[in-house]
Amino acid sequence: MTRSEDFDFVRDGTSILNVINDVIGNPQAFVPLHEPEFSPSSWDMVKDCLDSGWVSSIGKYVDRFENDIAEACSTSQAVAVVNGTAALQVALMVCGVQPNDEVIIPSLTFVATANAVVHAGAVPHFVDSNQNNFGLAVEALQSHLNTIAERRGEETYNQITGRRISAIVPMHVFGHPVDMDPLLALAKDYGLSVVEDAAEALGSTYKGRACGSLGQMGVLSFNGNKILTTGGGGALVTNDPNLAKRAKHLTTTAKVSHRWAFEHDAVAFNYRMPNLNAALGCSQLQELNNRINQKRQLAQSYAQAFAHLEGVEFIQEPPNCQSNYWLNTLRLKTDNPSQREHLLGLLNDHQIMARPVWTLLHRLPMFANCPKSECTVAEKLEMQLINIPSSAHLAGDLHPSRIQTLDLSSN
Ligand SMILES: *Cc1c(COP(=O)(O)O)cnc(C)c1O
Repeated sequence: MTRSEDFDFVRDGTSILNVINDVIGNPQAFVPLHEPEFSPSSWDMVKDCLDSGWVSSIGKYVDRFENDIAEACSTSQAVAVVNGTAALQVALMVCGVQPNDEVIIPSLTFVATANAVVHAGAVPHFVDSNQNNFGLAVEALQSHLNTIAERRGEETYNQITGRRISAIVPMHVFGHPVDMDPLLALAKDYGLSVVEDAAEALGSTYKGRACGSLGQMGVLSFNGNKILTTGGGGALVTNDPNLAKRAKHLTTTAKVSHRWAFEHDAVAFNYRMPNLNAALGCSQLQELNNRINQKRQLAQSYAQAFAHLEGVEFIQEPPNCQSNYWLNTLRLKTDNPSQREHLLGLLNDHQIMARPVWTLLHRLPMFANCPKSECTVAEKLEMQLINIPSSAHLAGDLHPSRIQTLDLSSN
């Protein structure tokens, strides 16, 4: 149990501020949570795209970007789209989610996960989070389904609402992989599709396999605050060519391929990623390995520095996983929200951007009436987690004494 007395704001707050400043080399200006970074090739590729005149919905960079994403995620297929939310909506649709179905998602996620479910015509069904990796709590979901779900042939229904449950969306929180094997087994038992919300987890691996490649489909985001950015953008990845083909069709106005005729065979979307954004994406993907190494170095450095503090725990990657450490995270040994607010105030007053985790989605007014399980772990995490500066370039400013002690060989 964490008790509020374990966290002393004056003692621990000041130590936390000092540790962060020490790790990132006592910066003189405001430090954002996560900044985009561009290499010289970004200028070259974006300029090449402008010079070619092909900035919009047709061009070579979209195809190249899709190939590069598939390679980065070890999938055979990728479809680039306008943002991660649109990617998730379409992934759910092509994976068989029908209007009025329920889709199981964690309550502790960014609002886009739930919005995409609603955009697909379905209803979010919120479940609890795992205490260690903050992702969907698989065992708790198992017992929740035992209580409320009923198998009818190949399908699963919620006995309370009468609606079909058709999919699960695990989300890899801050880049830390969900324990996917038990989740995939559970989904199989209940005949549910698995669409990974890997928006935060590009480059993270679970048992050596890329996040995004583990379910029927995975979804990425290239928003400005993610590990790589295309300005705005997203992608669907999968090993199933039919799902990819359907996703491509639905995101490009369902136009039937023809040299000149405008034939369309479904009501669809204009969600294709513009060539200009894809050009930026191609240059960013070249940086991925380097970026992840830097972010892992920064995390390692925080982990060592925070190991000696009492009121706080620095969150490290789950066993058998490699995390991209998208956002570095502290768990405070208090669940008293006013202590957390004090700490956030102190850090931000001292030019260190820090922020709490998302408000649990089942509490937001538009989702208040959605079905849900008990969310006791998530409710506690909501009070305890804060994110601290995580930009890859901060690793370049690491205090010299720390660089020598880095142990990059640890899992
Ligand atoms: C960023 C994010 C998204 C959505 O991405 P956009 O590109 O901003 O639409 C979805 N889910 C999670 C968990 C995210 O962090």
